[in-house]
Amino acid sequence: MGLKIWLDDKLVEEADAKISIFDHGLLYGDGVFEGIRVYNGKIFELQAHINRLFDSAKAIRLEVPISKDKLIKAAEKTIEANGVIDGYIRLVVTRGVGTLGLNPFICENSKIFIIADNIQLYPEELYEKGLKVISATVVRNHPLATPPQVKSLNYLNNILAKIEALDRNVPEAIMYNHEGYVAEATGDNVFIAKNDLIYTPPVEAGALEGVTRGVVIKLAKQEKLEVVEKNLTKCDLYTCEEFFLTGTAAEVIGVVEIDGRIIGDGKPGPYTRLLRKKFFEYAHGKK
Ligand code: PMP
Repeated sequence: MGLKIWLDDKLVEEADAKISIFDHGLLYGDGVFEGIRVYNGKIFELQAHINRLFDSAKAIRLEVPISKDKLIKAAEKTIEANGVIDGYIRLVVTRGVGTLGLNPFICENSKIFIIADNIQLYPEELYEKGLKVISATVVRNHPLATPPQVKSLNYLNNILAKIEALDRNVPEAIMYNHEGYVAEATGDNVFIAKNDLIYTPPVEAGALEGVTRGVVIKLAKQEKLEVVEKNLTKCDLYTCEEFFLTGTAAEVIGVVEIDGRIIGDGKPGPYTRLLRKKFFEYAHGKK
C-alpha cells in the first residue's frame, strides 16, 4: 500500500499525487522545501521549519498557498494518516504550472505537497566510528547568486559536491565559499572544536541556517560550552581536535577524517559525543 500524500488541500493516495510536467518546480527548480523529523509522534521544531519555509518563499517571491497554522495542521494530519511515529516529513512548495518560459508570475497557483515517511539515517555504526569527508572543489553558491540561506528546490550546487564525495567513496563533502571559507556540508552544517571552544561558520559564509545547528548551539550553551561563530579555513578543519556535522537527517555526527587528515584520535571526540547525547535527549524528551 502506498503512502497518503498531502497535495494542495487534502490527503490523496500516493498513486494519485501527481504534479504537472509544466510545474516550474520541476522545469526550473523554482520552489522551496523543508525536511523535518518526527520523534515520538511529535514534529520536531516545527515552528522553526515553518518559519524558514515562509522566509525562503518570501525571498524568492513565492506565495505559500496556505497559512502557517493550516500548514502545521496539514503536516500533523499527514503524519497521522501514515502512522509515522519516528520518521521524516518533506514539505514542498512549488511555483506551480506555468509555460516553458521563465516568467514565474504567470504560473497559475503555487502547489504544496507533504510526504511523511521513514528516513534512511546513516547506519548506527557510522555514529560510533565517524565519517570520512573530502573538500569539494565546486564552490558554494555565491550569496548574491542563489542565496544559500534559501532552502530552494535547486540543489544542484550541493549535488555536484555530493558527486565529488561519492566518487571518492566518502558520504559527505565540505563546501567552501567564493572566498575560500568553510560554508557547510552538502546537507549539513559544520562544527569543529579546538582548545575547549566550539566553532561554526556564520550563516553568511554560505550556509543554510540549520534548525539542528540552532538546537545544538543552544544545547552547547546549556552545557556551558562556548560556541564561536567565525569564518573557518580549510586549515582550521585539518588541525581541529573535533569535527562534527549537524542536520535534520544526520542529527549530530562526528567527522574523523578530511582529505586524508585524521581528526583528533580518529574517533568522534568527547564534545561530539556529549552533544549527540544531549540532542537525542532533547529530541526524544520534548513530547
Ligand atoms: N545545509 C544544507 C544545505 C541542508 O540541506 C540542510 C538540511 N538538510 C542543513 C544544512 C541542515 O539544516 P537542518 O538542521 O535545518 O536540517
